[in-house]
Amino acid sequence: MSVIVQKYGGTSVGDPTRILNVARRVVATQQAGHQVVVVVSAMSGVTDALIKLAREVSSGGTPPEREMDMLLATGEQTTIALTAMAIQSLGHKAVSLTGAQAGIVTDGLHTKAKIRDISPRKVQHFLKEGNIVVIAGFQGETDDGQTTTLGRGGSDLTAIAIAAAIKADLCQIFTDVEGVYTCDPRVVKTARKMDELSYDEMLEMASSGSKVMQSRSVEFAKKFGVPFEVRSSFNNNPGTLVKEETMSMEQVVIRGVSIERNQAKVTLRQVADKPGIASQVFKAIANAGIAVDMIVQNVSLAGTTDISFTLNKDDLPKAQKALEPLTDGLGKAVSAQDGIAKLSVVGIGMRSHSGVAAKVFEALSLGGINIQMISTSEIKIAVVVDEDKITEAANLVHEAFGLSAE
Ligand code: ADP
Ligand code: ASP
Ligand code: MG
Repeated sequence: MSVIVQKYGGTSVGDPTRILNVARRVVATQQAGHQVVVVVSAMSGVTDALIKLAREVSSGGTPPEREMDMLLATGEQTTIALTAMAIQSLGHKAVSLTGAQAGIVTDGLHTKAKIRDISPRKVQHFLKEGNIVVIAGFQGETDDGQTTTLGRGGSDLTAIAIAAAIKADLCQIFTDVEGVYTCDPRVVKTARKMDELSYDEMLEMASSGSKVMQSRSVEFAKKFGVPFEVRSSFNNNPGTLVKEETMSMEQVVIRGVSIERNQAKVTLRQVADKPGIASQVFKAIANAGIAVDMIVQNVSLAGTTDISFTLNKDDLPKAQKALEPLTDGLGKAVSAQDGIAKLSVVGIGMRSHSGVAAKVFEALSLGGINIQMISTSEIKIAVVVDEDKITEAANLVHEAFGLSAE
């Protein structure tokens, strides 16, 4: 008998009707002759609402992370119980399991824990007894019994990791769109659903803002060779298959366009152009636990240079504070700017095709959109533009590469 893991995201379990819809879908899957594991997220809006509550009772708006995990884990715990009840109400056997009960062991890095190990004995036991096993996404437990969570969007990671651990035949990620599109269909209305794409492309898209999949979950899928399908929980249309790269994939130069809002830029002007400066700057930023995205350094002029980097807007105050003790000795001025966004163009065909960057720049220039920063990887070109221009930029670039539906 084959084993199928199905993950349903927040919108798909957003109210009792939708939970019953999920229950009917998983029962139908079981009746088609499969063993079924269901991973569910918190009902839509619940995680955000919990975070808001936590900030309201915490000094400085920064809640202690251990307690944050205790709190956030309740979101998914609500959904597993409701989903198991809904399945039972349809006359079928179901059991709900927290991340810990499902054997998900993590490190102790609260709010962004990494999975260390999974012991799926209980899951397999309940499956054998004919249950649909409903597992809480996004959460795990340390060796010494502390509740942890896996970072925003972490239910995707739970699903992929469980699929790897029980050697599932199929892993399906059910969400509120029909698959992975050439751009967020809410931003570019003419975006096209892709039938398939490689792990690397999905990873670049996810980590550059296409949060239809959590990027860490894609990394995990690639590492353990877990192919997965992203599809809609509202109909039975085939979705997008994400898997190992195949020959035919390389012929497509550009797969898609991602955007990431909420970015900020920090610039250090006229810092001494000598060894050790960048190290000091980015050590201070790293020590503050801030993830930096793009870094650009200018050519040296009269022994000094400018360094700019981008980061999430929410981290900007922390970054400014971390740089304060350095700036006197380092540079003449630190400037910070938010209201910027990043646009990325992704495709493995870029490795063997030239002219992609030129085309991106031309499309933006036609719209009179100024490019503030540029970075590239083997299969990606990213630019920073004003946030209020990002929708227009995405549509222009999407059009320039002919990505729209016919
Ligand atoms: P879930 O709650 O099911 O995990 P998410 O909100 O995390 O759902 O992810 C689905 C959303 O991702 C879609 O509603 C869509 O707006 C957004 N999205 C961003 N980029 C893309 C893309 N390239 N293709 C499809 N959806 C995308
Ligand atoms: N509920 C968590 C979040 O909103 C995890 C998830 O939905 O995947 O980030
Ligand atoms: Mg998600």
